[in-house]
Amino acid sequence: MLAADLGPGVRAFFTTRRGGVSRPPYAGANLGAGVGDDPAAVAANRAAVARVAGAPVTWPRPVHAADVALVLPDGEARLVHPAGGSPSPGSAAAGTAGLHDGERDLWLDPAAPPVDVLVTSSPGRGLAALAADCVPVLLAGYDAAGHAVAVAAAHAGRRGVVAGAAPAAARALEAAGAVRVGAVVGPAVCGACYEVPAELQEEVCAVEPGARATTRAGTPALDLPGAVVRQLVSAGVEVSRLALCTLETPWLFSHRGGAPTGRFAGVVALRHATPWDIPQRPPAAR
Ligand SMILES: [Zn+2]
Repeated sequence: MLAADLGPGVRAFFTTRRGGVSRPPYAGANLGAGVGDDPAAVAANRAAVARVAGAPVTWPRPVHAADVALVLPDGEARLVHPAGGSPSPGSAAAGTAGLHDGERDLWLDPAAPPVDVLVTSSPGRGLAALAADCVPVLLAGYDAAGHAVAVAAAHAGRRGVVAGAAPAAARALEAAGAVRVGAVVGPAVCGACYEVPAELQEEVCAVEPGARATTRAGTPALDLPGAVVRQLVSAGVEVSRLALCTLETPWLFSHRGGAPTGRFAGVVALRHATPWDIPQRPPAAR
């Protein structure tokens, strides 16, 4: 596990390939359902993650959009559109057309909410963002006293960057009462590794110029984690980043590194307040 610091009221971490019971090519801690792995192995791996989180975890189905599902205390996920508009392209309402190979079958898990952004203000509910090159982001929203009041998990690949999945998560936290938002951007394929055709680079950079990158060979590429950091900073979010490249790190899953493969996850949960939690108040301006 890679710990992510979102303050004392929040448990947040990113999993790796290590541990788990899945067999090759999904070995070992695959958390993706429907990628071809044994469902019993995925269930066992997910149960182990829930134990670490200290909370039941909601596992979404990535659809490469910016719609948000609010997770209620009983675990029910309710679709919300923070912009107040229609569902974004690729979302549940728009169908599976936007998915790339290996993700279409994630739809086989009917219990999972078909969104890329989960948010909750319920303590003791874990939220996951699955990835294997795409960008997993964990966020927390704080009240004026600095207490975490809500958390979010977002998955942003190429389409999610264009759709604005990460800023949508920040807006959802503000809608939940946060006056300040913090985020940790997790491991993802880096700009030096994610080669794309020039037309595709132009298409993405027309919407998000910060995604422009070049591979080590000098060919067009996209820096998705860098683009997500820029989007979050523009949205007023305090961001830190675990700058690990999934393609270059053997103990992380990478779709480009060899499919079929598994998915690791970012997991976040609002902790139940306990009597020994000392409020972390910012210095008062007098
Ligand atoms: Zn790389």
